[in-house]
Amino acid sequence: MSDDPIESLPPRSPVSTLPLRPRLLVVDDEPLILEGLTRLLAARDYDVETANGGCEALIAIGRQQFDAVLLDLGMPDLNGNEVLRFVADRSADTPVIVVSGDSTIDAAIRALRGGAADFVRKPYEPEELLRRIDNTLTRRRLEKENNHILQRLQQSEKWHRFLVNSSPDFIYTLDCEGRFTFVNDRVESLLGFRSEELLGQHYSLVIHEDDIARAEHVFNERRAGDRGARNIEIRLKCNPGMRRPRLMNGRCKAVELTATGMYDEEASPFEQRFIGSYGVAKDITERKQAEETVHYQAYHDLLTGLPNRALFRDHLGLMLAQAKRTQKPLAVLSLDLDHFKVINDSLGHTIGDELLLVVGARLRQCLREGDTLARLGGDEFSVLLPTLVSRSDVEHICRKIIQVLSKPVYVKGHEIYVSVSIGACVAPEDGDMIDSLIRQAEIAMYQAKSQGRSRLQFWEAGMQAPYSERMQIEADLRRALARNEFVLFFQPQVDTLTGEVRGFEALLRWWHPQRGLLTPADFIPVAEESGVIVPIGDWVLRQASAQMADWRRAGLPPVRLSVNISARQLENPDFVDSVMRAVQVYALDGHQLELEITESLLMRDFEANALKLGRLSASGIRLAIDDFGTGYSSFKYLSRFPIHTLKIDQSFVQDLDREENLSIVNAMIAMGRGMNLNVIAEGVETESQRARLQQMQCHEVQGHFYSAAISSHEATTLLARHARGFGRAEHQVAG
Ligand code: C2E
Ligand code: MG
Ligand code: MG
Repeated sequence: MSDDPIESLPPRSPVSTLPLRPRLLVVDDEPLILEGLTRLLAARDYDVETANGGCEALIAIGRQQFDAVLLDLGMPDLNGNEVLRFVADRSADTPVIVVSGDSTIDAAIRALRGGAADFVRKPYEPEELLRRIDNTLTRRRLEKENNHILQRLQQSEKWHRFLVNSSPDFIYTLDCEGRFTFVNDRVESLLGFRSEELLGQHYSLVIHEDDIARAEHVFNERRAGDRGARNIEIRLKCNPGMRRPRLMNGRCKAVELTATGMYDEEASPFEQRFIGSYGVAKDITERKQAEETVHYQAYHDLLTGLPNRALFRDHLGLMLAQAKRTQKPLAVLSLDLDHFKVINDSLGHTIGDELLLVVGARLRQCLREGDTLARLGGDEFSVLLPTLVSRSDVEHICRKIIQVLSKPVYVKGHEIYVSVSIGACVAPEDGDMIDSLIRQAEIAMYQAKSQGRSRLQFWEAGMQAPYSERMQIEADLRRALARNEFVLFFQPQVDTLTGEVRGFEALLRWWHPQRGLLTPADFIPVAEESGVIVPIGDWVLRQASAQMADWRRAGLPPVRLSVNISARQLENPDFVDSVMRAVQVYALDGHQLELEITESLLMRDFEANALKLGRLSASGIRLAIDDFGTGYSSFKYLSRFPIHTLKIDQSFVQDLDREENLSIVNAMIAMGRGMNLNVIAEGVETESQRARLQQMQCHEVQGHFYSAAISSHEATTLLARHARGFGRAEHQVAG
């Protein structure tokens, strides 16, 4: 141990180690005291600076921050109290310990009032002084730490309040009676209540009447911790008096509710005191709406809003069970519009859709409240008639339906006539299984169609399903290409003046292994619907091209060959390329190939078709409008296509005796010639038709008068004879 009394003092207490080396300013006008103090403090590892009087002190304090100031009071230049005031003004948190020879109570009080942290009398005991300095520094540090913690608390409280209030969920607390003690700001946008309006109110104010029991259950269980109630679906009521109800999007909100009981932790561990609940309500209105939409879509036809097949089956199941109890029969009707495909194809899908809407509405008018009307797809509707008295009830309703639907429908300026074929079966008489009842009604409906349409047919045991025949045709069609069952026939197109063959139309035939020779009407619709028409059409193109190449090799005069193109083919993205390929492979002159497209098909996808046909026309390929006059094209649009030929539909030609048809045909020929087109009249069967057409300056005709469609061999013979200069009479023989 050292002799120096200062050295022998105990070290500075560790609590005052903040900052590591506290910086002190010692102010005294007495150099000896100043020096003594400095030594004492420096030995205790304080960083000491001195000021020899009040003025020097002010300069030092102005320059830097001290952890504490030891200040003498009586100084000649500027006394301690003034320095104290300066410190209080400048750096209030620097503690000042007054070390003064003035030991009067007054001096001490004055100094302390002036902001001194402590007052030590001279002469001081070094240990006492050091202890007081330590204490002051420690107190200052604790104060600082406290302030810091307080600030952090305030910040954190602000932060939590922000989080709670900007939460997308409604957050609440309830007291033990179920009254709101806290609600976050979200409640305003969710339910239209301001938080003040809800505080103190019972929760039942915002619970939907039908969900009160469930809410009571949730809140009364008072389960705490992990056992709290979670994700309970409940509806909350919006403020009925709110100003902007539209913003709330409805009068109640579906929420998922959590609730956890709160218990007084101070209470005895044996008897927990319930003090309320807290929890969150998450708005799931949108999710519920989406679920409802999905559910709706799964069970309804989106166009008409009517039940679909699934819902129809459900209803039928329920009604069958009920029928068993009540012992009353029920009926299932299958309705199908007659010739709807024609309307859809010629007028377009938009008009077809509107027509279906009108039909749906009219059907509904004919039915009672408890009946189910469903759309099973396309133009197919189903009706369920529960609780019948007899079959004559069904007849009565169907008569009404047929009559109501027979009135014309007006859609976008079109007057459309529809009729409906109805098949019916009655349960339990005809069976009591859902699917077989629906199927039997469908079979009866097909029967009604085959018996002349626009009528009702009851199902009878042993009735064959024509549609299984369709399935058979489809299956056979898929095999027909591979088995080489198709064949092209050729119908000559003849010059009315000279009788010369100008070209042929290639017409498809199918040698069916069981049914014999089939014409397009027997299989093209099925091929269209199933898409098999695309490879078949491709085959027709190649086959026709090969035929022309054969004729060329045989040295026969060049003729035009027309090929019919169907909707699916034209829509196929590969269409243009497949035509070009055929032309290239057989090295044809593009002008020899003509594509026949019906006008309604052309109009269906106007822009895309114009593009495709433009490309084909650029390589010389010709375009004919088939069945002209039966569609609804406008000349304005027609003129946008690169057309070479108009083919007047045979329905006009066959009834040329009717004045009306005569003038229509006359106008069509005049128009075609005006547009510089080749006009061909189809279906010419008699000499008088031919003569009239010739009179009207129709220069080409096609029809049984000259020849029906003939085989490749016959067509070759015809061409060869023709090349040798045979006349018209021979052509007729060829048919
Ligand atoms: P279309 O293109 O209007 O062909 C004319 C139809 O009228 C042919 O019937 C033809 O045999 C028939 N016909 C010709 N002259 C007369 C006549 O004087 N009187 C009567 N009553 N009928 C006559 P077909 O061969 O049964 O073809 C029917 C329809 O099938 C064609 O109508 C065409 O739209 C379609 N079709 C034929 N071949 C093909 C093909 O290769 N591909 C596609 N996609 N469709 C084809
Ligand atoms: Mg044709
Ligand atoms: Mg035609």
